[in-house]
Amino acid sequence: PSITRGIAKEIPNVSWDDVGGLKDLKRRLQQAVEWPIKYAHAFQKLRISPVRGVLLHGPPGCSKTTLARAIAHAAQASFFSLSGADLFSKYVGEGEALMRRIFHKARQSAPSIVFFDEADTIAPKRGGSSGGSVNVGERLLSTLLTEMDGLEQATGILVLAATNRPQDIDPALRRPGRFDLILYVPPPDTEARYEILRIHTCKMKLGEDVDLRQTAEATHLYTGADLTNLCREAGYVALRENISGKCVLGRHFRTAIASLTPSLTESQIK
Ligand code: ATP
Repeated sequence: PSITRGIAKEIPNVSWDDVGGLKDLKRRLQQAVEWPIKYAHAFQKLRISPVRGVLLHGPPGCSKTTLARAIAHAAQASFFSLSGADLFSKYVGEGEALMRRIFHKARQSAPSIVFFDEADTIAPKRGGSSGGSVNVGERLLSTLLTEMDGLEQATGILVLAATNRPQDIDPALRRPGRFDLILYVPPPDTEARYEILRIHTCKMKLGEDVDLRQTAEATHLYTGADLTNLCREAGYVALRENISGKCVLGRHFRTAIASLTPSLTESQIK
């Protein structure tokens, strides 16, 4: 991938099949994001104005970044990813310059998706707490708003943002033509956990006694990220037991479950 000042432009290699669960959400995103890019002509013909921004919110480790990458892959769009840490700079104006450069690059490489992780740090509510970073946040926010307002309907650029704290995002971002679609990305339920476990074990050598359905049931309060860790940890348990063992067994998964603490709390499960 080509690199723009530390920001990689790429078409991610994550397909919809690599995202476990979230069936309805995937369908909604396909229509909202993939269609306007894939069928831009049809949208123009019918004079339908596509959404320009989608805000994904939900607990950490529950697929927001994975979804953003899958969307870009499905639409074969260039993917530019920025997080709060990329944009906060000790030099005045550098974050805004970087943001403008990314949008410029995105226009040149359209169709493109610009993804902002930790959007609450990039676009915090204005007039919030005091401190130097608030000013930086305000300047970044107004640059983002200017860039989003400047996006023409058919340029094939979509802005995606992710946050764990939607209440901390400036309401100006929710005005029409900006983040028109706000979607909650829920923690995985039992079926989704089963699918995520299948995805992350498909290349592992598993013993016949491994029951992923049972594992899914035993992992209430696990995020997608926790499940990824669990699969790796089960592999390590097997290796620690016998470095020349042939496969990962059910008991290795059970030991791994006993040793890991899930990230979610009951109150995050609606
Ligand atoms: P954060 O808010 O911390 O940025 P996030 O919601 O963006 O988290 P991801 O980065 O998408 O979460 O997930 C972390 C890791 O967990 C992914 O790299 C992936 O391995 C795994 N994962 C999460 N959700 C899924 C899923 N639905 N299917 C498959 N893997 C998943």
